[in-house]
Formats: sequence, structure tokens, C-alpha cells
Amino acid sequence: MSFSVTQFINQLPKTETHLHIEGALPWHLLEQINPEKFSTVPFFREPDFRYDSFEQFETILIDHALAFFDSPESYFEASKVIFENHLKQNVKYVETSFHAGMIEYLKVPGDEIIKAILAAVPSGLEVRVFLGISRNLYTKYLGPKLEAAISSWSELSGIDLHGLESLPMESWTAPFWQKARDYGKTVKAHAGEFGPAKNVLQAIEQLGVQRIQHGTKSIECEEVMAVVKDHNITFDMCPISNFKLRVIENWQDHPLPQFLEEKICCTLSTDDPFSFNNSLTEEYQVGYEKLGLGLPELARLASNGFKNADIDVNSKDFWLSEIHDHLLDFSV
Ligand SMILES: [Zn+2]
Repeated sequence: MSFSVTQFINQLPKTETHLHIEGALPWHLLEQINPEKFSTVPFFREPDFRYDSFEQFETILIDHALAFFDSPESYFEASKVIFENHLKQNVKYVETSFHAGMIEYLKVPGDEIIKAILAAVPSGLEVRVFLGISRNLYTKYLGPKLEAAISSWSELSGIDLHGLESLPMESWTAPFWQKARDYGKTVKAHAGEFGPAKNVLQAIEQLGVQRIQHGTKSIECEEVMAVVKDHNITFDMCPISNFKLRVIENWQDHPLPQFLEEKICCTLSTDDPFSFNNSLTEEYQVGYEKLGLGLPELARLASNGFKNADIDVNSKDFWLSEIHDHLLDFSV
């Protein structure tokens, strides 16, 4: 990749709007707490490694995340490093989710986790925190806590449907997502990653989401593509995650270029950089090198992130015009 493209990507003001905080654990923090166990680079962080299945990915991530995240303070420590790394990459706005299951596992109030994450935000970065709720997580223990989360955790920006897409959407989900919207929360859902295109349709129609995390498989169904366009849905996409998890077999199968051609609003994120050993800058590089996107398309992906961002209109206009000028600088 030429020097000027690298420079263009590095200097481009960016957002990251699909990031699991536990899946963003910086490796060296694990190494610090247990140098003996975590000193060598594990096989799953080798550059050419690809996972066999979602279950393999999930097991490895959970095993490592639970070795580190044991308190709100641990979320603070990890978030500090994660957000500093965002600033180094010229990222200005981040939406990150934490896993609701951790509330039960750690036996700590979830709003303390949110406060810890937000306390780690450096100046120059805006961060919004979402609660990631797996498809089968509305249990006797967590149900009341999830209800409290949407009604009274003022620092919670929204909710995101997580977990295995092969699990059915349970009957509590649609009313709960509706209630969250009524409380003014932003709602998202993971869909069309491992599951079929119709999961994207279900998330739009039953959960009322505007924001789909991935949405990759939408390409397989014209009806779904039409609904996505009609409803101006955004796909917060993570190409390296899709490649490493074999959601796509080859780079040329990735639908991002076609989504952009069809004027679907897409953004770029890393998903779980602990597991994929990727950075946001590398996602843009992959867009250029593997997916054949030009600088105007890369600029559009960044602009889309700011258009959706939960920031005031002046800041939004500022970053959009910065991106516009940045593209002009590199177009001569
Ligand atoms: Zn994700």
C-alpha cells in the first residue's frame, strides 16, 4: 500500500461503533497479571489464523476475558488502554457494549461497569456505552436488572442483541426493545452474521432497530436488501472479523463494496480486537487492499459513523467537513 494511502487512513477522523469491550482487552494487560501464562503470542493471534466456528471463538474469548475482568476497576484499566489506542488512530467517537452476563458473573451492579468505562474516556474522545444482551439472557436473575438498566441507568446509551444467531428470538425480546426505545435508548442487534438474511429482516421489523451489527448475509436476499434500503438501515461492519470467523470464505465474497454501491449506510469497526488481533486502521487498509474501495469510499465509511453518532449537530458538522477537506487534500 502506498505511503499516501496509509497517511490518508491514519489522518482520517474515524468512529468505531461496533466494539465489544471485553473483546477489546489489550493482550499486554493479561500478560501483566500472569506473565508465565500469557507471555507468548497465542495461536489465535497469529496473523494467518482463522477460527473453525463461532463456538471456538466464543470459548477462547470467554476464557481469557474472565481471567481479567473481575470488577468495575478492571473495566476501567482495560478501557483506559483501549481508548488511548483509539486516540492514536485518530478515532473521535466510540460506541462500545459490555456483556450483560457479566453483571451476574461478577455480582456487581451494571451501572458501576458503565461508570468505570466512562471514567476512562480521555479528552478528545466521545464514548457511548451499550448493554449487550444475548438472545437467551432474560433470566429470573437478570430480567429485573435488564428492566432497571433501560429505565434508570441514565449513562446507558442503548442495548444490543448479542449471542448465537441460531438461538430463536424469544418472546420477551420485541416488547423489551420497544420499551428501551420508549425510554430513549438507541437499539441495535447483531444479525446476518452467521444467521441468514431473514434475521436482519426480523431485527428491523420486530425490534425496530436502525442499526444492524454486521448484516453481512443480507446480500443473499433481495427482499431484505430492499427493506434495508427503504428503512435507511446502517450496517456496522467488521470485515476482518467476518474473514477470521469464516462468515465469508474469500475476500472477494465480502459484500461491503456492493452495499456501498447500492447506497446502504455502512461503517467500519473491529468487533473483538483481542480475538482478531486487528486495529481500526487495519480495517480501512483491508477495505482498500482486499475489497477494492477507493479513498472516497473510505471517507464515506468514516462520515457515516459521524452521521449516526450521538453528538451535537455542531460537532457532527465539524467532523463531516474535516473528512470532506481531508479527501480533497488527497484528491489532487
Ligand atoms: Zn459484534
